[in-house]
Amino acid sequence: MRIVLTSSEAVPFSKTGGLADVSSALPKALAALGHELWLITPYYPQQAELNGLAKQIQSTEQSITITIGHNDVTARILESRIPGTSVRVFLVDQPEYFDRPGLYGDAQGDYRDSCERFVFLSRAVLEICDKFDIRPDVIHANDWQTGLVPALLKIEGHSYGLERTASIYTIHNMAFQGQFWHWDMVLTGLDWKYFNWRQMEFHGQLNLLKTGITFADMLTTVSPTYAREIQTAEFGNGLNGVLTSRREDLVGILNGIDEEVWNPASDPYIAENYDHTTVSIGKPVCKVALQKAMGLPVHMNVPLFGMISRITSQKGLDLILGCSRDLADLNVQCVFLGTGDPVLEKGLMALAKEHPQKFAVKIGYDEALSHQIEAGSDIFLMPSQFEPCGLNQMYSLAYGTVPIVRAVGGLADSVIDVTEANLGKGTANGFSFYEYKSEVLFRQICRTLGYFLDKTTWLKLQKTGMTRDWSWKRSAQEYLNAYQQACLKRSHGH
Ligand code: ADP
Repeated sequence: MRIVLTSSEAVPFSKTGGLADVSSALPKALAALGHELWLITPYYPQQAELNGLAKQIQSTEQSITITIGHNDVTARILESRIPGTSVRVFLVDQPEYFDRPGLYGDAQGDYRDSCERFVFLSRAVLEICDKFDIRPDVIHANDWQTGLVPALLKIEGHSYGLERTASIYTIHNMAFQGQFWHWDMVLTGLDWKYFNWRQMEFHGQLNLLKTGITFADMLTTVSPTYAREIQTAEFGNGLNGVLTSRREDLVGILNGIDEEVWNPASDPYIAENYDHTTVSIGKPVCKVALQKAMGLPVHMNVPLFGMISRITSQKGLDLILGCSRDLADLNVQCVFLGTGDPVLEKGLMALAKEHPQKFAVKIGYDEALSHQIEAGSDIFLMPSQFEPCGLNQMYSLAYGTVPIVRAVGGLADSVIDVTEANLGKGTANGFSFYEYKSEVLFRQICRTLGYFLDKTTWLKLQKTGMTRDWSWKRSAQEYLNAYQQACLKRSHGH
């Protein structure tokens, strides 16, 4: 198949979260299966510089001009490849929109012109297909930033020779909807007739996530459980009705992990490489290195908890802070890496200050340290309020770091709780709970520590996690099925 994937972030060009990982790992896996792929994403010069990418990005000598509201806005089109693949990447270089410190905002908050910035990106996708004569079978858009793409394709696709191209839209997080005041409708360039409660309008505002959901031929989200959850009021963020009306076209596909990047047997960031046969030799070396790096006392037998996350209430940081006193009374160590909500960051830092022998916190984004935490910790904490897919629990499983998770979304689909029955079947690989309460999390922590002392069972849990196939191969095949369904629907005039 010929597939164009578009997204507002993609590794190694930019990243704020899991979306960036998916946006490059999925095309890579699909290309490896023999399909023809293109990726379209913004060029954020400040990120490219940080990631040392200057040499890998070239000009195409082409530019596009798009009318946004009353202005004609021009962008240069740069090109690159997803490293190690033949996947061609088009980078939309529009400095006024994208030459900024952050992708979506800075210390002052979200950028106020993000609707305009990503309407531009969405329109650029069609322009680039036209300019470079790409006639894909499907265009795969992701999250609210490219939610306009399915609408543009359906309404204006014929003007770009894309009348036969189907659209597929993936929801990575219902919490971010790209909701703007109604006058931003003018920026989209689409007729006001689409601004109605069935299509682009939501409570009087323009909603780009809803737009994508309404217009795409097929919808996916990043885990089977999340696909069910978002059709309920609790997880649907107001769009559950819209999703329920499209449930026939919605599938949940668990993300994979990029095994070239997240593999303890070859990971260049960690102190000692290991696999499931050498985990009990390699992991202790990584644990000591982590304790040293984080300034914690080196104790082999003290259970070490790790957490890497955006610091937001989504990730259950409030649960952890809520039981931190009890946690501090135990003979354990915890390391946290993340950035986000200043109030929660302060809470974590205060904890580290009060108990420097037990808690270590690094505020910031640190790729190398994130690998060292995955390899060096015994137990990974991920008690999310909601979790569309979650990657860190899968990295943990692949690294023999037993996760404690809340059984929601992709966490429920990847972590199999330690019960007698699951241990008997050999499927148990971690600990999960449901009730969103600090005391329930704390009880899980105590339960986990009981198993930690039982070395034979613990090793079994580690090996079960490490030997399951977490690769993109499996998910890529499921995406192909969804693409084929989208094409069928398109050809039947959906
Ligand atoms: P989300 O996309 O909701 O943030 P995911 O678990 O799906 O959560 O993906 C998060 C990704 O970002 C993972 O690859 C994780 O390792 C990475 N990450 C998050 N915070 C940091 C950080 N502070 N430093 C390094 N990597 C981080």
